[in-house]
Amino acid sequence: MAFEDVFPESLKDALEGVKRIPTYGERGASRLVYNLMKLEPQERREVVENLMKASESLRPCKECFLLSEEELCKVCGNPKRSKKFICVVEESQDAYAIERLERYKGVYHVLQGRIAPLEGISPQDITIDRLLERIEKNRVREVIIATNPNAEGEATANYLIKLLKDRFPAVKVSRVSYGLQFGSLLEFVDELSLEKSFENRK
Ligand SMILES: [Zn+2]
Repeated sequence: MAFEDVFPESLKDALEGVKRIPTYGERGASRLVYNLMKLEPQERREVVENLMKASESLRPCKECFLLSEEELCKVCGNPKRSKKFICVVEESQDAYAIERLERYKGVYHVLQGRIAPLEGISPQDITIDRLLERIEKNRVREVIIATNPNAEGEATANYLIKLLKDRFPAVKVSRVSYGLQFGSLLEFVDELSLEKSFENRK
């Protein structure tokens, strides 16, 4: 009997689907799909329905690329948030980690990735052009770079610092990472460390 005759078609499709999600691959897909099947059917349905809901209602904010249910995210849409301060993060989850502190009063810019030459991701592949446009248009006073404290995040930060100093010498550029453990992901840094590094930005 051939393997294809034994292996359920729907299982194959589910695994193939999850494998398309960045960073998942064979192992990640296997872990997600087989473990999902361990949930009670009702719970499983809820999990999948919530994913479906998120998938259908979320899109990148047209201004800052933060995942949002509206065309303009709740940060950009809030008149109390200053457009003069832009905090640059790699992904939406990093911005939301900072939002959880309820301290920052500026807006964000989500790069939708980081510079990673080994993976073929160059500056043109992330939203740097749009960042430059926003800095110019809103006459930004400070750009706070909060890319992850790991090799790629650092490389991205250094690239941006140099570029911004050249293009906008009057704009203050600071880097959040001071005191954060190297190799950690902003998303999972504890709130106190994140708050400290935000206040001590250099
Ligand atoms: Zn926004």
